[in-house]
This record gives sequence, structure tokens and C-alpha cells, in this order.
Amino acid sequence: MAKSQENGTKILLGLKDYKVEEVREGENRIVIKVIVEIKKMICPYCRSINLYRHGICKPGEILHSWSNGKRVYLELHRHRWRCRDCRHTFNEGNELVRPHSKLTRQAEQEALWQLKDRSFSQVKREL
Ligand SMILES: [Zn+2]
Repeated sequence: MAKSQENGTKILLGLKDYKVEEVREGENRIVIKVIVEIKKMICPYCRSINLYRHGICKPGEILHSWSNGKRVYLELHRHRWRCRDCRHTFNEGNELVRPHSKLTRQAEQEALWQLKDRSFSQVKREL
């Protein structure tokens, strides 16, 4: 993707700190391939910076937003890390998605906004 175009996409999607590789449009969904590459990780358990990359996560599709009635998913590519001090392992990108969640934090926010106007069951059906 061209640099300026990539920047625009990232601003629109609230993904400024991430690398957007490509955007694919399907019939009723948009999938954005995002590479999470964090240079300076801090252990979320003990705050150590004594970490190493431990492998990669299987990329999953995570609901991120809605655009023109289509769901926007992130295909998130991220590493696993291990802490040399406390031996815990964890994923990159936790500021984007809570562990084990199928929604990004942004999608959670947007869903809450929708709740203000509509019934919970209706929003749930759409999700
Ligand atoms: Zn640690």
C-alpha cells in the first residue's frame, strides 16, 4: 500500500501504531491485515523488560468496527513473548484486544454506543 494511503487507513481505523499490510473487501465484510510489531515490550505481570520472542500467534479475525453496514475485521498478526524473569508468556497487541476477546477494545466501545440507542438483544444479534 502507498504510504499516504496507508496512513489515511490507519487514522480512519484508529490503528496508528500498527502496520496495515492490506485491506480486503468481501461481500459483507472487510478484512484488514495488521502486523503488530512492538519493539519495546514490558512484561504485563512483573514489568520486566527482560523478554524474548517466543513464537507467533495464529492470526485470528477480530471484529474491529463497522463501515457502510459491513463488519470490519482485523486479521491480527502478532508474536508471543516470554519473560525471562517471571517466565510468563503473553501476546503483543493487548492494548488493542483484551486476551481471549473476539472484539477489539474499539469495537467494544462502539457496541456500547449502539446500546445507548437500541436494545441489547438487537446489538447482540448483529455482533
Ligand atoms: Zn515477567
